[in-house]
Amino acid sequence: IRALADARGRTLDAIRARASSPAISPDGHSFACLANIEGEAGAADALAAGAEGVGLFRTEYLWIVGDRPIGEDDQFAVYAATARALAGKPLAIRAFDIGGDKARGGTGGREENPFLGQRSIRFLLGNEPVFKVQLRAIMRAGADAGHPIDFMLPMVSDVSELDRTMRLVDECEGELRARGAAFLRPRVGIMVEVPAAALAARALARRCAFFSLGTNDLTQYTMAVDRCNGAAAHLYQPLHPSVLALAAMTASAASAAGIPLSVCGEMAGDPASALVLAGLGISTFSMAPSALPLVKEALRRVPLAETRQAAALVSASAPATEIRAFANSLLERFAPEVLRLC
Ligand code: PEP
Ligand code: MG
Repeated sequence: IRALADARGRTLDAIRARASSPAISPDGHSFACLANIEGEAGAADALAAGAEGVGLFRTEYLWIVGDRPIGEDDQFAVYAATARALAGKPLAIRAFDIGGDKARGGTGGREENPFLGQRSIRFLLGNEPVFKVQLRAIMRAGADAGHPIDFMLPMVSDVSELDRTMRLVDECEGELRARGAAFLRPRVGIMVEVPAAALAARALARRCAFFSLGTNDLTQYTMAVDRCNGAAAHLYQPLHPSVLALAAMTASAASAAGIPLSVCGEMAGDPASALVLAGLGISTFSMAPSALPLVKEALRRVPLAETRQAAALVSASAPATEIRAFANSLLERFAPEVLRLC
């Protein structure tokens, strides 16, 4: 057992040593592998772990439970420092994803079904002053960085939410100009994590700068399974063909509109799931930094052409178990060590 553990450790060390090399498949397809971070120190850690940028900066930690988020200058300092640490590499900052599983402190009353209530963009559009503080801080950070910041809206389910956000950006622009502050308008994109957004992806893609698939919530809302309910965990299936069909629909809308698409849910950090998503045409994955080495190794070893059969399985509504078995068989054939280390 000891010898086995040692061998496993050596294999993992070798894979980790390659974490900073690009992920290019044997048939020449390049993938971008980014990190999800939750604090300003996260950017440096992400780069050290082999990330090519940050695909999801969760900002909820700036929210003080029972109180309000930190003020504009303090937020600006966090966003500007993060952009500086990344030195022009991709950075997508997510608007406060308050509500649902994330506390919203003293703001608003208790909800019977918080995941279906005033969560995320709905909460922000109902609390414009809070939203505008974050928007102005992001716009000032863009000027500091010398490039627009990617600003990502969580839980969008309707084009009107995007339109209302863009009007707030206009208002913030006027306010910053009146103040004489330097700013750059952000590139506003959305998380596709509600089935309604995936189904309206073509219209949404015409109005925003990028998409990021939030597969954690997309799975929860598609499967009607509370992502925090352990008793229903067996029903929470990210590889369910219906979840994947929505992901594929989103990917094809992004490509038709010529906007970038990434995946930032937990699926991106699971080698088998990443291969399935690659087979559906997705090339950018954002994950916990610790997941980077194995996912990159899987993408490097399996020819992209071999993953394409995933699309046929999804079209045929094959069961999630069959889709996982397909991805595991690819790992078994091309990268058995990765499968053993998962
Ligand atoms: C998601 O829903 O997939 C996601 C990345 O956002 P969060 O897990 O923070 O809700
Ligand atoms: Mg989410």
